[in-house]
Amino acid sequence: MTAALHNFLTIDVEEWFHVCGVDGPLRAERWPALPSRVEFTTDITLELLARHHVTATFFVLGWVAERHPLLVARIRSAGHEIASHGWSHRRVYELDEASFEADLARATGALEAAGAPAPIGFRAPEWSINDRSLWALPVLARLGFRYDSSMTPLRLVGNPHYPQDPHRRETPGGSLLEIPPMVGRRFGQHIPLGGGWGLRMSRPATVIREIARRNRRGEPATLFVHPWELDPQPPRVTLPWALRFSHYYRLSGFGERLNEIVASAPFGPIGDWAVTGDSA
Ligand SMILES: [Zn+2]
Repeated sequence: MTAALHNFLTIDVEEWFHVCGVDGPLRAERWPALPSRVEFTTDITLELLARHHVTATFFVLGWVAERHPLLVARIRSAGHEIASHGWSHRRVYELDEASFEADLARATGALEAAGAPAPIGFRAPEWSINDRSLWALPVLARLGFRYDSSMTPLRLVGNPHYPQDPHRRETPGGSLLEIPPMVGRRFGQHIPLGGGWGLRMSRPATVIREIARRNRRGEPATLFVHPWELDPQPPRVTLPWALRFSHYYRLSGFGERLNEIVASAPFGPIGDWAVTGDSA
């Protein structure tokens, strides 16, 4: 990291029903019939950031951008970076190179149709670039993406041995910066302290301390938030236990805790830093 250290605040813009790996009431064929909450909850997120004069990176799902182009315009006009969360919210390791490339192209098309420039950053649904799908990195680099934020140093979804700080990866398709989400230590293993259930369950002081520890080393911390986590009345559906935990555990009061964290450290988007600020 060079001067002007800031931490990365990232928002995955998707609906409450964009859950990976579920059949039944939330399967993709049913999405168009489910009540949309994404405009309302993203506006809550935008208000929170405006309160702190903070800009962030919004990884917008193409499926959402296609249906809500004015939402994309609203995010942009507030000064935030628009990046890609793919189009279909399918895990990358369930795709092959051709279908991944098609999914990315459709997502970029939807963002551009909503007035955003071609995205330079990508985040896979459910951190699904892992040892099973490393072929996706050269695809991203070849298509002009400058950074990826899809590899988490966590067991099961990622790999606890992945680097914890932003780092450059040379791929056959070109060079790419990888921006891992912040993890912390608890219960003898890594937990997702930068977002999801790990962030929601933690006291703000614990999160703030870990951010400061990384900043003292000269490294930024990366947080991730979903607008549906800030929904005051989240729709409930029956999910398998692990998904229920990752989606619903300790949503109440999350907005206040997030406020406290955002107020405590400098935050900004990834994009500018990925293009000009990295020392990797
Ligand atoms: Zn997602």
